[in-house]
Amino acid sequence: MIAKCPSVLLIYTGGTIGMIENPETGALENFNFDQLLRHVPELKRFNYRISSYQFDPPIDSSDMEPLYWAKLVKIINYNYDYFDGFVILHGTDTMAYTASALSFMLEDLSKPVILTGSQLPIGTLRTDGKENLITSIEIAAAKDENSNAMVPEVCIFFENHLMRGNRTTKINAENFNAFRSFNYPPLARVGIHIKYEPHLIRKADPKKPLKPHYLFDTNVVILTLFPGIQESIVESLLHSKGLKAVVLKTFGSGNAPQKPWFVRLLKEATDRGIIIVNITQCSSGAVEMERYETGIHLLQAGVISGYDSTPECAVTKLMFLLGHGLSHKEIRYKMNSCLIGEITKKEW
Ligand code: ASP
Repeated sequence: MIAKCPSVLLIYTGGTIGMIENPETGALENFNFDQLLRHVPELKRFNYRISSYQFDPPIDSSDMEPLYWAKLVKIINYNYDYFDGFVILHGTDTMAYTASALSFMLEDLSKPVILTGSQLPIGTLRTDGKENLITSIEIAAAKDENSNAMVPEVCIFFENHLMRGNRTTKINAENFNAFRSFNYPPLARVGIHIKYEPHLIRKADPKKPLKPHYLFDTNVVILTLFPGIQESIVESLLHSKGLKAVVLKTFGSGNAPQKPWFVRLLKEATDRGIIIVNITQCSSGAVEMERYETGIHLLQAGVISGYDSTPECAVTKLMFLLGHGLSHKEIRYKMNSCLIGEITKKEW
């Protein structure tokens, strides 16, 4: 029997990775994907079937929007049966938001969706883009001993770590090691070998069809607390027209000022049906509102725990749940449940 050659669809959305330096002007210009093989001839050595799709025009990831997430999901859904895995080339700035959003949108995913990018364009001499691209393709095509995808998850691969996408945050604006997953260990470490951690990787059921989701409601805001925060500002923010949910970035293990005006404003907002989710400003660790009196006040005001969620994940999860017309009660319940490995809760 002839073994089927692995197949990967590359989707280029934009960002530094897909740029080359114009040798005459020195300016960075967007890469034409038809020329991919010319710039990364190493891809030929894979012996894979690699196809590509390019956003036209490519976008800087600062312009990323739910509309583009829906476009990515449409492309993946349309091509789902024809490829073993998908690699999304994306600007690094908002990659963690896209990875989080896709993890909720691609329900029952059983194939790898690997996001990657680079700090230096693929056409420059010291680029980190080639290695990131080549390793991501290898991971997207990797199978286990039963011929199932090795990593059936939405992930970010960067530098030498494969991370669960909805656990990842950009932590450095210039180092090659630009992403970190503080609250969940890497799914694979990459050196001479790619060392997968099967016990950390989500188990998928390849018999289940992919269920794509497209809807988002963006009436959410992130409010970061700081000593000296003003009552009038918090009040006007919580009365913003259309506001449906707030990601509240609190201190330490979920603590906030105990001032009566602050707790009152939060309580009034939750009574009006606004969902307020408490996550910590710290890079790692979880919210435990029962631990200090300052946290208990928040619980009494109707604030719910975001556990150890990243801000990127908390905000995209809220947008996703709000977009699906769920009741207030259901959204609060789902925010406190682990849907796709995004928070540390025992039942998952
Ligand atoms: N501004 C770029 C972007 O996120 C930076 C990068 O690609 O790393 O699209």
